[in-house]
Amino acid sequence: MRIVVARRVSQGFFLLLFVWFCLVATVGGGFLQLRGWPINWLLSLDPLTALGTMLATHTLYAPLLWGLGVLALTFFIGRFFCGFACPLGTLNQMTGWLARLGRAAKDRAEDNHPGRAQAVKYALLAFFLGCAALGGLQTGLLDPLPLVFRSVNLALLPLADPGVGVVHDAPRHYEGVWWIGLMFLAILALNAVRPRFFCRFICPLGALFGLAARVAPWRIGKATDKTCGDCRLCESHCEGGCRPSGTLVVSECLLCCNCLDRCPSGRIGFAGRASAAGETALPDFSRRGAVTLLAAGAAGAMSAPLWRVEDAAGLGRSPSLIRPPGSLDEERFLARCIRCGQCLRVCPSNIIQPSVTTAGLIGLWTPILNYRLGRSGCQPNCIACGQVCPTAAIRPLTLQEKLGQGDHAAAGPLRLGTAFVDRTRCLPWAMGRPCIVCQEVCPVSPKAIFVREVFEPVRGGRLPLAGVRGSTLALARPLAVSGNAASGDYYVRLLGAPEANPVRLVGGGGAELALAAALPGAASGREVEVLIHLMQPHVDPARCVGCGMCEHECPVSGLRAIRVTSENESRSGPGRMLA
Ligand code: SF4
Ligand code: SF4
Repeated sequence: MRIVVARRVSQGFFLLLFVWFCLVATVGGGFLQLRGWPINWLLSLDPLTALGTMLATHTLYAPLLWGLGVLALTFFIGRFFCGFACPLGTLNQMTGWLARLGRAAKDRAEDNHPGRAQAVKYALLAFFLGCAALGGLQTGLLDPLPLVFRSVNLALLPLADPGVGVVHDAPRHYEGVWWIGLMFLAILALNAVRPRFFCRFICPLGALFGLAARVAPWRIGKATDKTCGDCRLCESHCEGGCRPSGTLVVSECLLCCNCLDRCPSGRIGFAGRASAAGETALPDFSRRGAVTLLAAGAAGAMSAPLWRVEDAAGLGRSPSLIRPPGSLDEERFLARCIRCGQCLRVCPSNIIQPSVTTAGLIGLWTPILNYRLGRSGCQPNCIACGQVCPTAAIRPLTLQEKLGQGDHAAAGPLRLGTAFVDRTRCLPWAMGRPCIVCQEVCPVSPKAIFVREVFEPVRGGRLPLAGVRGSTLALARPLAVSGNAASGDYYVRLLGAPEANPVRLVGGGGAELALAAALPGAASGREVEVLIHLMQPHVDPARCVGCGMCEHECPVSGLRAIRVTSENESRSGPGRMLA
């Protein structure tokens, strides 16, 4: 098989694998849903993730050894991952090819001329690694694998959900996903300017591979130093912009192998020797080039504290910063999370959302829980997010650990935060309206929400009696309440007898009230007061796990009357709550 055909087959395979992994990252038992597929395998192949997290945490999560294996292979045969496997590279190549259909070979060759701007990606790599060295892992913003997973998971697949329902049974929404989608579209659109624009000029992973490829013994190059004619066919199809017909820019060759295929006289080959027409590489390690890289690395390192400037001012830790169950403490979480969107995609409740401002600049697009946007709270019997996190920023939990059962009984259930009742918005507290929704939906046992019963006088409910017939009271003036007086929530008591048991109102309204039983002491000329029976909710912080069911179901629209904040969360250790 010709090598270009092999490359296309390989690209097709990895692209399909990528799409498949995105599609099946959905909890459920159906064919198109997660059933033990290794959906993170492609992300594990990423050496920039391995290197970045190693620098930031001084540890290596075992699955990321795959990435170091890919890097090791690059040291021998060059940027094979870019040419044969990277899904974003394949999408870039396809859109670049489409954008150039019908263009003259000469124009295409001009597009593919190498330029110094291709060194920008090395500066970006140095910047990100410098940043990671001081704990601010930001590689995921531009690393192509997290970027393409994030874009497809959050911006593209949700478009297929409504109506179609093949991928997901209900529409999914992600906050601020516009920016993720626009960035992805921009990356694809830039291929109209230059083929594989992102790969050539921006990709920090490509830069890492480019550094390794400099020393690769097996490389593409001219097999003979005989001068070429002037066809430049190889250059008109070169995806890397590496000048295969002349002095080869060896770090930029991403093994598309088009030159091997196109050279009419077979002068280009893949061999264990340098190109006979000479070689060069980017970045140049002359004094100026080295200084640029060092400056970029230093800028990255110095920027690490700047990402946290909000923390320094004491503003960074928002109480609404609630991370998925099993998340490491904030410092270690930020040193691992690559913003791939896997946990957001897999969450059946759609409560995991990309942070836009809540986690500060340093936590842009990292996962946070938003109980208002999702379809429910965090499901007690779900641990999906930790199972799919490729870097263990959300560590894989067992159900027993999440629920505090079995071996974990002593530690108790995992807490995401604590719910607080906002008495200024809560219906029984602030409006004198019965509501018991939060207590009913609280899934912990015994319930974390308990209620205290009170009987509150209703407005305009002090009424003189005109007569009494058994359990029916005739009123001197009619009762006017905004709800249904006979709903069972209204009671009647003799005025001035606060110790007497109120009797339930079962019918009537207007000038006559029917009670469930005769009201002791009631007589014409005396006054009664109409009361509403309320169950005012209270939260027991010792039991609340912060699952957010109550916040999600609270009928108060807008700002809910019960809200979960991160106080008392397990990941930050005990003692965060002063109460
Ligand atoms: S454990 Fe909770 S947050 Fe994580 S995926 Fe399941 S429901 Fe979502
Ligand atoms: S957040 Fe707490 S109070 Fe609210 S439903 Fe969950 S466990 Fe119950």
